[in-house]
Amino acid sequence: MGRTDCDVIIIGAGLLGCAAARALMRYDLRIIVLEKSSDVSTGISKANSGIIYAGYDDTPGSLKADMVVRASAGLPDLCNELDVHYRRTGSIMIGFGDRADKVIRGKFDQGMANKVPGLRLISGEEVRDREPLIAEGVRIGLYAPGTATLDPWELCIALYENAAANGADFRFGEEVCSVSKVSDGFVTETAGGTYSSKMIINCAGLSTDKIREMALAPRIRIVPNACDYYVFGIPEGRSPSHVIFHEPETKGKGLTLIPTVRGEILAGSTQRKNPETEGIPTSEEGLRKIMDMCGEVVPEMPVSPVIHSFAALRPNPFEVQAGDNGEFRFTDRRLKDFNILEEDGLISLMGIKTPGLTCCMELGEYVARKVTDHLCCREAVNSDFDPERRGIRRFSDIPSGELAAAVSKDPYLGRIICTCRNISESEIREAILRGASTLDGVKRRTGILMGPCQGSKCLQQVICIMSEVLGISPYQIVKDAGSSQILEK
Ligand SMILES: Cc1cc2nc3c(=O)[nH]c(=O)nc-3n(C[C@H](O)[C@H](O)[C@H](O)COP(=O)(O)OP(=O)(O)OC[C@H]3O[C@@H](n4cnc5c(N)ncnc54)[C@H](O)[C@@H]3O)c2cc1C
Repeated sequence: MGRTDCDVIIIGAGLLGCAAARALMRYDLRIIVLEKSSDVSTGISKANSGIIYAGYDDTPGSLKADMVVRASAGLPDLCNELDVHYRRTGSIMIGFGDRADKVIRGKFDQGMANKVPGLRLISGEEVRDREPLIAEGVRIGLYAPGTATLDPWELCIALYENAAANGADFRFGEEVCSVSKVSDGFVTETAGGTYSSKMIINCAGLSTDKIREMALAPRIRIVPNACDYYVFGIPEGRSPSHVIFHEPETKGKGLTLIPTVRGEILAGSTQRKNPETEGIPTSEEGLRKIMDMCGEVVPEMPVSPVIHSFAALRPNPFEVQAGDNGEFRFTDRRLKDFNILEEDGLISLMGIKTPGLTCCMELGEYVARKVTDHLCCREAVNSDFDPERRGIRRFSDIPSGELAAAVSKDPYLGRIICTCRNISESEIREAILRGASTLDGVKRRTGILMGPCQGSKCLQQVICIMSEVLGISPYQIVKDAGSSQILEK
């Protein structure tokens, strides 16, 4: 088997790998992205809160604080360029007692130091004026008008499509199994091939430590833990319109309520031990805790219908220390900032947690600066780079006055497959043509199977359309990978 040469290998096609690929395509570089799954956004980037943070949570002077305010301000333009839905909700952090009061005032001071625009401490009365569903007895609020929400899948897919349209070469089903340092760069092996590159960008999420340790001694270990979320389909007007962060009276996670771009309320998130790195189920205890907190914080908010619940994994980075005897000790020192290790051409984005979604493009550009400095190619810009990408045209986004003309041009647009959310056959076909080969791929690109019926009304039709467009038997259609067939013979 031959060896494929390129300038930079990116490992992982989550938010960070896709953002780095897009940022690097502004230069005249040959970029290959190796992803073990069959699609983008299947790791940490598939299950998170989707909040664009204002920037008061991060310690002044940290890399996170340096990036997040700028990143948050730049998101509307990025979403505009990439045709991604963005909802400016503002946020209120609320507290009911002495401990929360102290924490919230501390966050306010931190936010002022970080120059978060429009940040304001507000009284309990003003909290309830803005959000009448919050329980009586709320004492204080921290109002941040710049907080927003978006769909992380939509952003990740958009970054991928734009990077690919500008020449980044994405290779799916390519799990990296070895990385070796050679005199002029690196040799990377997957089951499918051998790649030679001058540099590697390690964006492997929960596996960034394993990838780095294929070539270097341990420095940071990623320890996953898990959390749970509910998605509620609450009618508008009966749920908060801001992102609500509840700061509890005891140390630990409070409740976060997130009005999504699709109009649901996402409620989370808990924290529990879980050593697995994929395929984790929700926990009954975690979900019960969310329900209990909803009862305390927003007692009048109807918590039904429940559309869905899901679990997510956090990649917690811990310091590793080298002992005198050449052995390594895994410490319990958790690293709070973004940890980006640059080691002789290998750049590792180690366990990037919140606000990694908010900062994905800042992180991508940071990496691109490091690459162009290392390769001395800042001047070699790609003059053909096009930052714009158009999303799949959604039936529900078309103004009613333009519908008849649109349907006469594209009859599939007039065939509604998901009646919960008015998703047309045209959207499903387009998602497949753009690369979705699994049911989850179609779901993430169109929002189908995510409404109140969770696919009970339309799953069969989606499978038939996929079978026709992909030219395979319906029995071969898989949920997300390999052996996850939906239909049994
Ligand atoms: C619960 C939770 C909630 C969050 N909420 C927010 C939020 O509201 N706002 C915010 O700003 N940030 C949030 N974040 C942070 C944000 O989601 C992450 O920073 C971001 O998704 C990390 O993306 P990634 O590309 O590093 O990782 P991933 O999305 O995990 O991508 C890594 C990719 O590498 C691939 N891979 C792994 N090993 C290999 C291999 N050997 N070979 C090839 N490919 C490989 C994986 O398949 C995967 O696709 C949240 C994070 C968590 C965990």
